[in-house]
Amino acid sequence: MDSRGFDSAGRIFSNATEMWAEEIGSTVTVTATTSAAAEVEAAATAAAAGNGGAGEEASGEGKRKEWYSKAIAYWQGVEASTEGVLGGYGCVNDADVKGSDAFLCPLLAERFGTAKRHLVALDCGSGIGRVTKNFLLRHFNEVDLVEPVSHFLEAARENLTGYMDQGEDSHKAANFYCVPLQDFTPEEGRYDVIWIQWCIGQLPDDDFISFFNRAKVGLKPDGFFVLKENIARNGFVLDKVDNSVTRSDQYFRELFKKCGLYILSVKDQKELPKELFAVKMYALVTSQPKIQNSGKRRRPKNSPRMIRS
Ligand code: SAH
Repeated sequence: MDSRGFDSAGRIFSNATEMWAEEIGSTVTVTATTSAAAEVEAAATAAAAGNGGAGEEASGEGKRKEWYSKAIAYWQGVEASTEGVLGGYGCVNDADVKGSDAFLCPLLAERFGTAKRHLVALDCGSGIGRVTKNFLLRHFNEVDLVEPVSHFLEAARENLTGYMDQGEDSHKAANFYCVPLQDFTPEEGRYDVIWIQWCIGQLPDDDFISFFNRAKVGLKPDGFFVLKENIARNGFVLDKVDNSVTRSDQYFRELFKKCGLYILSVKDQKELPKELFAVKMYALVTSQPKIQNSGKRRRPKNSPRMIRS
């Protein structure tokens, strides 16, 4: 695999370890081998304990805080609208929703059967509630939203209050949590589906792994995650503007292994403008699926898809 990556200023990194060392002072990446789990554990403990002082500096927690605060500052300056959260590509909303419906419907039937049942989802990095409003609320009776940027979450609250919440079979946005994913732990056993779209790139590898491990507890026994995300052709692409990283399919698969997650199904999002990154949807479960989706892996046939400003 080509593990090289580059940033939006054109700088090339020979691997993700080098990039993370620079960005957050971390040695923890998917390229680490046998001691990775222990390192991740150590980094997570350091992060949890990080309240200043020499220990914090030594473990690079100052750099990590900077990484996150720059990202939040970026999103705080973005308009609370569909255009805003989609980086000026509001036009992809319809194709996105159509692709998500086609991906989720068979999985819901397969995992939960066709009999009516009260379904609950969590929308991670929800922004203004675009995914919840246009998609999740049609499939789930309750949707909780988690989003760190308060003006987005307030817009979501306004957009969703009373929305579809009528009649006996009610569908409603239930809880709004103003928290970043690296600090969020869901209520135990509440969710059938945890949907994570266009936000996981904000998390470095170790926080990515810690997040999924905490979030597993939030799933019901047959529950699953869906990760819908931009995909780099190789290695990774670091965006210095919003401090996010776009990972390759292989990079994601290595991270899923480190999280103890299995791919139940994976599909490409169709009908996106050529200049954008490719997008994949992964359904992820916590134990090995009995029947694995045969899903032949297709090579991306398009040229490099770089990206918004
Ligand atoms: N998922 C939404 C929003 C995508 S825009 C949609 O598809 O419409 C990216 C979102 O990630 C923004 O709302 C941004 O505030 C949020 N975000 C940024 N840093 C985050 C973090 N650390 N944890 C969770 N969400 C984050």
